Amino acid sequence: MATIIDGKKLAVEVRERAAAEVAELASRGIPCGLAVVLVGNDQGSATYVRAKLRDCELCGIPSHDYKLPADTTQEELMALIARLNADADVAGILVQMPLPAHLDEEQVVLAIDPLKDVDGFHPESLGRLVRGLPGLRPCTPAGIMEMLDAYGIDPAGKNAVIVGRSSIVGKPMSLMLLARNATISVAHSHTDPRELARICQSADILVAACGIPKMVKGPWVKPGAAVIDVGMDRDEDGKLCGDVDFASAELVAGHITPVPGGVGPMTRAMLMSNVALAAKIQHGLA
Ligand code: NAP
Repeated sequence: MATIIDGKKLAVEVRERAAAEVAELASRGIPCGLAVVLVGNDQGSATYVRAKLRDCELCGIPSHDYKLPADTTQEELMALIARLNADADVAGILVQMPLPAHLDEEQVVLAIDPLKDVDGFHPESLGRLVRGLPGLRPCTPAGIMEMLDAYGIDPAGKNAVIVGRSSIVGKPMSLMLLARNATISVAHSHTDPRELARICQSADILVAACGIPKMVKGPWVKPGAAVIDVGMDRDEDGKLCGDVDFASAELVAGHITPVPGGVGPMTRAMLMSNVALAAKIQHGLA
């Protein structure tokens, strides 16, 4: 039976670390504000934003909360981002995605000052990751690296398989594992479905980030592997589940993350950590 990787517990530790960093920065007069921008009335996005604002409170991070109407224009949103870029009290800027369909997300990501890019989505942040330079990393893969480290899972020399190649999870995940000397395979929707099980079976570290409920089954898992489930899906009964069939995979894996209580809480906690890091970078302390 696999060891369960407790994302909730680790997230508390990451938040405590971030809170200590923020307090230390505040004592030196360095502000660590986080601007959180929500456009429109999407209930899911509103829930995420509320959770992020609560985390800010827990970490002593002053939050600047912007709720904009659904008919906000691109120009209005860009003007707000320009103001936040110039605001010395704002160390980090987060624009909650997805945006309403009439808004250009790519333009928004590009407009955020890379030094305040606490989501780690800006091409400069991703470019720094590719080049192996220090910088702000996307929260989900950064949280997964923390989990691996906390449970003594060293990627060096291991085979890592990532199912999914999005810019916010799969691609940066593969680069972070590569930087830690794992051998990487990345599967995606064009991967031959007859081959997918075999590819997954080669993984010492298997990261499922494809958004398909319970796609990765127990027999796809190499005995003793670390299985990281990024998915936040709904099963046939509408219940929250991951991309991994937990019941069958936990019988084979060495370590496994649950859904909920795994990657999700760590993603949120890494945002707080990134706010402190952004403030440090802006003041030449990192
Ligand atoms: P995404 O942008 O939709 O990307 C999904 C990826 O999976 C794509 O690269 C896609 O391939 C690939 N894929 C689709 N069907 C596949 C198949 N049959 N076999 C292999 N690969 C397949 O999703 P995302 O934003 O990366 O998120 C993935 C999942 O993680 C979702 O459930 C999301 O809700 C969840 N998530 C959770 C957190 C968290 O904090 N826990 C954070 C972010 C995302 P193509 O590139 O070829 O289309």
